[in-house]
Amino acid sequence: MNGNLNVQTENIFPVIKKFLYSDHEIFLRELVSNAIDATQKLKALSARGELNGEMGDLTVEVELDTKKKTLTIKDHGIGMTAEEVEKYINQIAFSGATDFLDKYKDVQENLIGHFGLGFYSAFMVADKVEIFSKSHKDAPAIHWTCEGDPKFEMVEDPKHTERGTNIVLHIADDCKEFLEEQQILQLLKKYCRFMPVAIRFGEESVWVDSDTEFDEVDDGNGGKEMKPKRVEKKQPRIINNTEPAWRKSPSNLTDEDYKKFYHELYPMNFEDPLFQIHLNVDYPFNLTGILYFPKVRKTIDPTRNKIQLYCNQVFVTDSVEGVVPDYLMLLHGVLDSPDIPLNVSRSYLQSDGNVKKISSHISKKVADKLEEMFKNDRKDFENKWDDIKIFVEYGMLTDEKFAERAMKFVLLKNTEGQFFSLNDYREKIAPLQTDKDKNVCYLYANDADEQHAYIAKAKAKGYDVLLMDSVLTPHFINMLEQKKEKSRFVRVDADTIEKLIPHEDSIPEKLTKEQQEQLKPIIEAELDKQKYTVQMESLESDDQPMIITQSEWMRRYKEMAATGGGMSFYGDMPESYNLVVNVNHPLIEQVLNEADADKQKSLVHQLTDLALLANGLLKGEALTEFVKRSVNLIK
Ligand code: ADP
Repeated sequence: MNGNLNVQTENIFPVIKKFLYSDHEIFLRELVSNAIDATQKLKALSARGELNGEMGDLTVEVELDTKKKTLTIKDHGIGMTAEEVEKYINQIAFSGATDFLDKYKDVQENLIGHFGLGFYSAFMVADKVEIFSKSHKDAPAIHWTCEGDPKFEMVEDPKHTERGTNIVLHIADDCKEFLEEQQILQLLKKYCRFMPVAIRFGEESVWVDSDTEFDEVDDGNGGKEMKPKRVEKKQPRIINNTEPAWRKSPSNLTDEDYKKFYHELYPMNFEDPLFQIHLNVDYPFNLTGILYFPKVRKTIDPTRNKIQLYCNQVFVTDSVEGVVPDYLMLLHGVLDSPDIPLNVSRSYLQSDGNVKKISSHISKKVADKLEEMFKNDRKDFENKWDDIKIFVEYGMLTDEKFAERAMKFVLLKNTEGQFFSLNDYREKIAPLQTDKDKNVCYLYANDADEQHAYIAKAKAKGYDVLLMDSVLTPHFINMLEQKKEKSRFVRVDADTIEKLIPHEDSIPEKLTKEQQEQLKPIIEAELDKQKYTVQMESLESDDQPMIITQSEWMRRYKEMAATGGGMSFYGDMPESYNLVVNVNHPLIEQVLNEADADKQKSLVHQLTDLALLANGLLKGEALTEFVKRSVNLIK
């Protein structure tokens, strides 16, 4: 039988080849999944007692013949009769799977869904395609040929007696890479790694004990013994794991099984994941999968080890933007759902109802898991906190619902390494750290070494200091301030200790306002006015004579601008600091009373330099001068 394919355009093949799929390589996924599909259908028939004869070996085979320039995909599935080829292959608009699914609704989950044009994607890489097929029904085998134009030929083929289908692709000259063994192996590993029927591609070598050859070796007691030689043996290379962990019931899996599967997914990642979430939903959408929490630490790099998306064990993509919330992209693992539309644009994906539901379901599951860990094993949760902190913070900043849930389990860590829930911490610090306006003031440091002096001062007052050192800290504390009423976060070096948490009672000033006014220009003369603002303050007389601080807001907004918070205006502002003069310090009084102008100048210079030095702000020539001057002072 000869005929024309039932397609609308004069010649659809160039269109298929050029525009249909950006990745030509997916033809292999389409054809192998058709083969798997046909095999699953056969198994379904057999399970229902509707199959005549034995099932036999159902392994799908992929064969490369570089001489003939062909790639063959062979299955032992249900096969097709001439009428079926006419219906399913020749009439492009018809989808056989729909027919089958209607008939066998109860076995649906074992059947691979649609990917679109499926079979015709073969023409993206082949200039001639042949189908040899023998149906499980009592019908003659057929041989169908099409050379990349709308004409096809179909004849009976009595030679082809084995049940199943062979698709033979004659690879086009401009697609020679698909005749390379490594290339095909790599594609099979990418797309077919977890398909549910064994797929064989060529052979592989394994080293085994020989049955027939032996070596004479020392037996360890001065004698000799015969040991079987290690010999290389060829065996069929099965490229897939037909029962990936996510398809199994969580109750049958140990922690070790999950870790093993993680390393199977990411052979190049040697670190174990922290923990995982096994997803298993039937209604109102179908979703299975395992999400792993990796150690995220300080960097956010969602590009490595991405989440892989599958559709009934067929790999679809590893770019899951739109399917999962942004912050979940930091996770690793697999998601498998037949309810995610494939081959559609990203923007369409994001607006799809199912995708939205799936996305919020995953987000909820993740929050539930974290809360469960927080409740059930607080110690273990605390141990993992440093590794999941960024993830939780990022989640809270980008997903309102997640943020609400996370308020229950998000932890704060202080500079002594103790952990607190938000509520517990507030209770702990409220008595001493509530300012005169009834704000609870959370003090934090982002570097315990650099801010050591400030931390020590805060502790001496009985305050507690948090360690908040993630790149998201400025954004995160902004959010907490909005969520928790009457809360104020302030870095320990943002102000002098008295002003960090201003209370009603203030220390009496030793210098009068006039004296302070008199002093100010003398000190300003020794400083870069663009960078430093001189402020007079009444501190304890045994506190430092001069202290450098940097306003919490200025610094926080600059940091937020640096990590992309839409505050670039602040990012462009020059660095600026306050130089706080302790008007109660005896040395400051001495400056004021110094009659010799030169001596006064050098005393101020020494004091400002010391303050700068304490903050790592004294550099270059100024530092060299300072050292010289100090040595002279001791002499
Ligand atoms: P889809 O798989 O999305 O239905 P395809 O174009 O890939 O679209 O295939 C169309 C139909 O052809 C299939 O639904 C199936 O009925 C039939 N078919 C394709 N490949 C095979 C095969 N290897 N064995 C049996 N039937 C097949």
